[in-house]
Amino acid sequence: MQSCCRIIQEVASRCTGRNEGLLHNLDMYANRGMEVMANRLRFGRCRLNAYLQQIGRQETGLCDSCGVPETVSHYVMDCTNDVTKEVKAHRQRHRQEHTLANVLSNGEILRIICQVNTRCL
Ligand SMILES: [Zn+2]
Repeated sequence: MQSCCRIIQEVASRCTGRNEGLLHNLDMYANRGMEVMANRLRFGRCRLNAYLQQIGRQETGLCDSCGVPETVSHYVMDCTNDVTKEVKAHRQRHRQEHTLANVLSNGEILRIICQVNTRCL
């Protein structure tokens, strides 16, 4: 399993073409809300149960549907929710490897997550 920092570094590299910090890529985002959501997902600081548990706002940290830690990776890659379903369908249509770094660095997929997601992340 890749560490969060490694994934963030890889995503930043793909977005900017450079391997240094996250820079804005305005063409990648439909709006400011999408940019905020994308960065929250990349940093793992969003209102998913695993993070909410870390900050003392949720008891178990588990996904309500699956009963496993509700991390960003679980939410967009493995869950039974509609977000994961749509992300997987997109990756299969475009025959791209289904990795968290690929998902979080692809503007089209981030737009899909914004459209399908019903939670405040
Ligand atoms: Zn789940």
